[in-house]
Amino acid sequence: MKNIFKAFTIMILTFALFIPMQIVVKASTYIDMGPKNDVVVSKPWTVSFNKTLSSATVNTTNIKVVGESNNYIDVNVSLSNDNKKVIVSPVKNYESNKTYTLIVTQMVKSTDGKPLPKEVRMAFNTEGASTKPSEFTVCIDPAQYYKGITGINGTKAKDINLSTALKLGDILKARGFNVVYTRNTDSVSWTESNEANAKAAIANNAKADVFLSINTNNSSNTQASGIETYYLSAGVNNLLASSIQGELIKATEAYDRGIKVAEETANFEILNKTSCPTVMMELGFLSNPNEETLLSSDKYQNNAAKAIANGLMKYAGFANTDTNYDSIFEVSSVQDIIVNLQAGSTYIFPKTVQATMSNNSIKDIAVEWLQNSVNLNELGTFTYEGVIKNYDKKVKIIINVTKKTFKIVIDPGHGGLDPGAIGAMGTQEKAIVLQISFKIGAILTKNGVETVYTREIDKTQSLQAKCDVSNNAKPDYFVSIHANSFTSTTASGIETFYCSGSAAGAKLAQAVQTELINATSRLDRGIKTNGLYVTSNTNATAILVETSFLSNPTEEKLLVTQAYQDILAKAISTGILKTLGITNIVY
Ligand SMILES: [Zn+2]
Repeated sequence: MKNIFKAFTIMILTFALFIPMQIVVKASTYIDMGPKNDVVVSKPWTVSFNKTLSSATVNTTNIKVVGESNNYIDVNVSLSNDNKKVIVSPVKNYESNKTYTLIVTQMVKSTDGKPLPKEVRMAFNTEGASTKPSEFTVCIDPAQYYKGITGINGTKAKDINLSTALKLGDILKARGFNVVYTRNTDSVSWTESNEANAKAAIANNAKADVFLSINTNNSSNTQASGIETYYLSAGVNNLLASSIQGELIKATEAYDRGIKVAEETANFEILNKTSCPTVMMELGFLSNPNEETLLSSDKYQNNAAKAIANGLMKYAGFANTDTNYDSIFEVSSVQDIIVNLQAGSTYIFPKTVQATMSNNSIKDIAVEWLQNSVNLNELGTFTYEGVIKNYDKKVKIIINVTKKTFKIVIDPGHGGLDPGAIGAMGTQEKAIVLQISFKIGAILTKNGVETVYTREIDKTQSLQAKCDVSNNAKPDYFVSIHANSFTSTTASGIETFYCSGSAAGAKLAQAVQTELINATSRLDRGIKTNGLYVTSNTNATAILVETSFLSNPTEEKLLVTQAYQDILAKAISTGILKTLGITNIVY
């Protein structure tokens, strides 16, 4: 035989699956062993040879694994005791659902110095990520057993870490996860020098999907505060760290020290030893007396544990609806709320109130009232008491009810370049209706009703601009004043429009129309709905009054007189005021 390797096989560690070399015949520079699918992410490959190998050639230069973008993956390469097998395993687990290629180059030689005839390659796809918590194992590590870190009040880091870790384990088990602890009591089976190896072995034996190390921080600066999470390198460790860190900050309101790449020191040894994604959380500073108190509290530990569980579920893509946290701080004070309202208003009680918390932060806190809303028809001061949920606190709302002031928007029709109707004598509608509008406004003001005009001068104005004035002013009513026009000079009388379907509009229109007919004895053309722009596009109850016909010579002569304008204004004001409920009208 010319070749020293009669057979070259790659076998799966436990099944010894031999693949004869001759099944692959390819005119290429390497031998393709064919793909392997659904490989576990921690997979060690055993490459078997029919001759003993030169150990000097069995290294990560000659045997390597590359990722999808031809990046080199960190692997350990070792030779078996009989020198005929090479074991290739990832330093950290492979990622789920990715393709990798194991490459054995020709530089691998037998002990008698002969190289492989050709490079050999094998592609493999890793299995998909776990789809439910029951397929997912979490290794929880209550760290710092040998560290002896103690707060000023005597709190020990190892106890805080254990207590929080057990709470985390209970939450994860309740959510269906498999949980394994590096320790679940105040004792360990390892020595200080062998700690990282012993913990990593627990995680690796359990085939843990993640390793969560619970730690408490310590600094010579007693002011140092906050939470930070360490990870070893980018990729999934980074995702796990940021997901958990984000939840921890949300749950504890602690200072966010961020996620950090661990330096290669003894403190972070465990990150290097485990196979699965691993992070180290520092839940606060035991050296900071305020944080020592927090770290010792059940509320803080519960929130931190729930946050880590939620961060893990987010990272793993598991559905989770239990994502709210109760504050770990007490309410120190809530200010009474004072409200000034007009009679006839409805007050809707707030669902939350602003509270000053025991850490001096300001927070919106849910509050419960006896009723959701109250109608305020009587004048006076009324006090209502609410209970702040989850806290032993009450809050008062004091409502001062004052007499209602009404507001009316009066719209003198047309203006500027738009003169409106023009009478036989040359009377312009825009001028007549402006005068009538001022007279209406004067009477309304005398009766305590605020008046807003869409225009007070002769200016060009779009119909929408008129509506905008009203919608911004938020009046009780919008009243547009016009003079009518028709092709026949005999058309006469008074009519009032309202928006179709508006009962309040119809009521106001009828009140104004009745007053106008009683006061002028002109022809009653009635109240009408006609889809007019200003009545349709104003939010307030709206009417449009056609006071009389400028196209009718008799009515034009009336419209230009102060006397007739006064009668019209008085009638329109009276209709408005009566509809508002104001009866003792002053003119
Ligand atoms: Zn008009």
